[in-house]
Amino acid sequence: MMDEYASQRRTGAEPLVAVARSQCIVGIELGGTKIICTLARRHDDIIETRRLATRDPVTTLAAIETIVDGWVRTHEVQALGIASFGPIQLDRTADDYGHIGQTTKPGWHGTDVVQRLIRRYGVPTQADTDVNAAALAEGRWGAARGLSSWCYITIGTGVGAGIVIGGQTVQGLGHPEAGHMLVRRMPGDDWPGACPFHGDCVEGLVSGPAIERRTGLSGDAITDDDPVWALVADTVAAMVHNMIFTVVPERILLGGGVPSRRPFLIPMIRSRLVSHIGGYGGGDLIATDIGTRLIAPGLGDDAGPLGSLALALDAMQHAIAVDAQLHI
Ligand code: ZN
Repeated sequence: MMDEYASQRRTGAEPLVAVARSQCIVGIELGGTKIICTLARRHDDIIETRRLATRDPVTTLAAIETIVDGWVRTHEVQALGIASFGPIQLDRTADDYGHIGQTTKPGWHGTDVVQRLIRRYGVPTQADTDVNAAALAEGRWGAARGLSSWCYITIGTGVGAGIVIGGQTVQGLGHPEAGHMLVRRMPGDDWPGACPFHGDCVEGLVSGPAIERRTGLSGDAITDDDPVWALVADTVAAMVHNMIFTVVPERILLGGGVPSRRPFLIPMIRSRLVSHIGGYGGGDLIATDIGTRLIAPGLGDDAGPLGSLALALDAMQHAIAVDAQLHI
C-alpha cells in the first residue's frame, strides 16, 4: 500500500516534520487482567502491539487513549474494533450502549468504554464481547474456518463463551453469559464456589482465581496430578454437554489460560464429555468425532487481539456499504 505523507502541525518548539501516514485499523481488546491494543494494515500485517494491565477505569481508559492518540497522529486510522469483557450493553439504540454492566471488577460498573472512543476518534467503530470477537476471528482465520456454527469457550480470569450460528454471534436481549450456567456437581464435591453472584456456577468453579482459591495455591504451584483437575474437567465437560445439546455446533474451541497451560485437560474433558453424552441425538454426532469437534483454538493467544481487528474490519466494511447506498 502506498504511504501518504502529511505535515504535522507545528506546536510550540516542536519542529515541522514530515510524518509517514498509512491507512490502518485499530483493535482494542479489554480483558479482565490485560488490555491489548493493536495497530494493523490487515489482520496479517500488524504494525504495533501494546499491552497494558487492566486497572481502574479512569487510569486504564486514559492509557488506551494515549496509545491510540499517538497512532492517529501518525497513521490514517479508518476504523476501530473494541472487544471488551462483559457484561456490556451491545444494543446500539440504548443510551448506555457500550457501558459495562454489573461486574466483579471494582469501579467498572457503568463505565462507558465505547461511546467515548467513538466521540474521540470519529471513525466507524464496532464493539462486541471479547469472547464473541475471538469466536469471529477463529471463524475467519483460525480453527473454525469454513464452518457455519461453532462455540468458542475461554477459561481464564473468568469463563466466557461466544456462540456463532450461521456466521453470526448469538445476541438476545443481552449477550450470552454461558460461563455462569449451573451444572451438576461431582458426587461428594460441595465446595461453595467463588462466583459472587452464583457461587458454584461454572465460572465460580473453574476460573483461574476459583481454582487458586479452592486449592489455596497459586496457579503455577498446582501440579498436573492435583485432584482439582478432575473436578475442573468434569465441570467443563458438563458445560460443553449443555452447549452441545442447546446449539449442536459443528465445533467447540476451548481456549484461555487454564487449558492452554494444562494441555492434558482437553483429552480429559473429551473423555468425560463422551460419557456424559451417552450416545444420544445430535450430541452423538460430536461424540463419534470428538477429536476434531472439541479442540484448542487455532489462533492461540492471538484470538483476542485478532478478534478486535475483525470487529474493526466489520466496522469499515459496514461504513463502505452504507456509503455506497447513499451514492446510488
Ligand atoms: Zn456466576
